[in-house]
Amino acid sequence: MRQPRPSSKKRAVVLVQHDPLAPRPVQAAQIAFKVMAVAKVDTWAAALEHSSLAGVVELTDEQQRILEQERAVLPYLVRRGAIITVHACSVCGRYVFADSKSAPGARCTLRLGCSGAPVKASTTGFRPQTMPLEPTPGA
Ligand SMILES: [Zn+2]
Repeated sequence: MRQPRPSSKKRAVVLVQHDPLAPRPVQAAQIAFKVMAVAKVDTWAAALEHSSLAGVVELTDEQQRILEQERAVLPYLVRRGAIITVHACSVCGRYVFADSKSAPGARCTLRLGCSGAPVKASTTGFRPQTMPLEPTPGA
């Protein structure tokens, strides 16, 4: 059985992937960095102003929810030049913005006595799956 296609658009849709096991601010950064990459912009504000993203990037309901809930993270991310990403702790939930070249410490320093290990949101780590629409038979 073939899946029905919702539209006859010819463009490939970029599905955004993120790590559902990462701390939420890291998930939000992963999603935001991918959207910025597709839009070819360096900041979230610029991505929001990008008019032609609809129909090009496909976010799941869960990804929309993550962006909404973690929206405080988004304005500080920078994708090019002095790249700014986020380190977040899955135990205490705190996060800090950091240069993308810096590694998070082995132990959480965001909260006194926390036993967690912060995770860094890679700006390139989660690759999208590009889903080209099926070619028209016989074309
Ligand atoms: Zn912590």
